[in-house]
Amino acid sequence: MNPTTNPLLDFSGLPRFDAIRPEHVTPAVDALLADARRAIETIATNPAPPTWGTVVEPLAESLDRLDRAWGAVRHLNAVVNTQELRDAHNANLPKIVAFHADLGQDLRMYDKYRALRAQPAFATLDAARKTLVDNELRDFKLSGAELGEAGKARFKAVQEALADLSTQFEEHLLDATNAWAHYVEDAAELAGVPDDVLAEARAAAQADGRTGYKLTLRMPSFLPVMDYAHNRDLRRLVHEAYSTRASDLSAHPEWDNAPLITRILELRREAAQLLGYGNYAQVSLVPKMAGSPAEVIAFLRDLARRAKPFAERDFAELAAFARDELGLAELMPWDVAYAAEQLKAKRYFYNEQEVRQYFPEDQVLAGLFRVVETIYAVNIREGRTAVWHPSVRFFHIHDRNDALVGEFYFDLYAREGKQGGAWMDDAINRRSVRGGIQHPVAYLTCNLSAPVGDRPATFTHDEVITIFHEFGHGLHQLLTRVDVAGVSGIQGVEWDAIELPSQFMENFCWEWDVLRHMTRHVDTGAPLPRELFDKMLAAKNFLSGMWTVRQLEMGLFDMLLHDQFDPAGMAAWPTPLSLLAAVRAEVAVVPRAPYDRFMESFAHVFAGGYAAGYYSYKWAEVLSADAFSLFEEEGVLSPAAGARFRDEVLARGGSRPALESFVAFRGRPPQLDALLRHNGMVAIQ
Ligand SMILES: [Zn+2]
Repeated sequence: MNPTTNPLLDFSGLPRFDAIRPEHVTPAVDALLADARRAIETIATNPAPPTWGTVVEPLAESLDRLDRAWGAVRHLNAVVNTQELRDAHNANLPKIVAFHADLGQDLRMYDKYRALRAQPAFATLDAARKTLVDNELRDFKLSGAELGEAGKARFKAVQEALADLSTQFEEHLLDATNAWAHYVEDAAELAGVPDDVLAEARAAAQADGRTGYKLTLRMPSFLPVMDYAHNRDLRRLVHEAYSTRASDLSAHPEWDNAPLITRILELRREAAQLLGYGNYAQVSLVPKMAGSPAEVIAFLRDLARRAKPFAERDFAELAAFARDELGLAELMPWDVAYAAEQLKAKRYFYNEQEVRQYFPEDQVLAGLFRVVETIYAVNIREGRTAVWHPSVRFFHIHDRNDALVGEFYFDLYAREGKQGGAWMDDAINRRSVRGGIQHPVAYLTCNLSAPVGDRPATFTHDEVITIFHEFGHGLHQLLTRVDVAGVSGIQGVEWDAIELPSQFMENFCWEWDVLRHMTRHVDTGAPLPRELFDKMLAAKNFLSGMWTVRQLEMGLFDMLLHDQFDPAGMAAWPTPLSLLAAVRAEVAVVPRAPYDRFMESFAHVFAGGYAAGYYSYKWAEVLSADAFSLFEEEGVLSPAAGARFRDEVLARGGSRPALESFVAFRGRPPQLDALLRHNGMVAIQ
């Protein structure tokens, strides 16, 4: 097996996307896993005292090849999915997962890292190398490497049971979502719902052999009904069906997620206690930036205290508007989204379709690159290489001395076989290799509208923000100066700080001086009119107080549930639902329907990776807003501020704690003020 017969085993340069085929996947993964296991055996059985060069480097070398090859497969599976590729991916995924699970519990490797840490030579390592060793030790511990045989077996059983419960949670929610449908015969009952949604609903009814319109609980049907249907009874009906999914109140009590939630909480607590922690929240925070559950809870409560007056004002305005102009004497939960859309349309009327004419693709990318080149002293040039689809573009970043910094792919348009959403992924990580530096490479993926005919693609302002967001993640990966695998680029960055560089970039999309250079009407060539920009800016913070306290409610519930709630029973909050009610009484302003069972569909926390971590959204937003405030003070395109952000935050990656990087950049710990100001929440009387 060699690179000439299998391009996935060619590590001499960029992935050979013109040559990789599904049949290459299994032989490449098998060969690389065998290599990696051999490397681990050699390291683990080496009787000589461990050194950086005999433990960390050979392991990094093996893992790097595996990551690069598997990363290319994962990427292709996400962006040019075919049945053959999906089969090849799914057949190999369990092998990769099992390999990492075995490595995480390998006591021999854990001992090598412990010995490395205990040697006097450890003190002579640079900060990045020290951080890497400490991270490895932490991850071994959190994988249960330190437990005795019985403990290891129990820990593994608990992890497997939790994975199974998460899958069941997700399946119940999916089944409950799919099981419900409501057919409407008379189009008049659907007045207000946009035409394209109606067309879909009619096609869905026809597919079932029925006349009229089929409404479902899936987003493209549910949201427009809640947002636009004038029919209040219909909104109430759909809202109740949606809010009771996978609960005791749904038509399918066999899919009730409440018992699963209790079991998940018990097992998470048990896993935490096996590892020597008091509760799951403490374990969750070990690899994160936040220091303790108490710190997170205080953060959320402080923000809630400041945001609540604005949320109350938002809700009062909305209720008054609904009463006076919509004839809704009392604003009910199934009216809120509808009334908000009506008020928004009335207050800030402008046409999204008009706005997008000012954002043709080349102008947007040129505007983005201009910001980045100005503040970070780099040059971005388009290049050519093998890609997975003809519409994919490829770029090099050079520094001002023309030395290569990194490279990235831009895959902008939605198409069949491409997973939805937008994301950045690492293709190659920066690290030192024999004979120099391995330069970082990133995949930047979006799902924007493709050009039609010979007109260039044009983007909505939201889509432009998405491009900036993902590019921020990309710069974190590409502008790193760390040369140690595992802590360069985005690797090893605390999870609650990972959105700092991305949300930071979004701010530029709201700066007039940036925006006017980034716009050119696709037909007339005119820049965005100031008047239109002012309307967009005014609409930006519409109801931001209400949305903020809603996020805080979810974050506070999640953290209290994993820190203070006792699944074995407690007087103050006998059930998770009673805890949620208490949090709402403290934080929320929008009344909840008596049937509301939101908790049973809170998949981020019970089926995703956000347990005791939901606060991260707001946490990182504080950092990004506060970081940007330095640019507001020193000039939005200030190269001095840019150099500092690059040197202290982007270049450092995971080589030191995110808080240290932030303080080094900003000259002080993070403050809330900028976030409140950016959301329009400044002192009201
Ligand atoms: Zn992001």
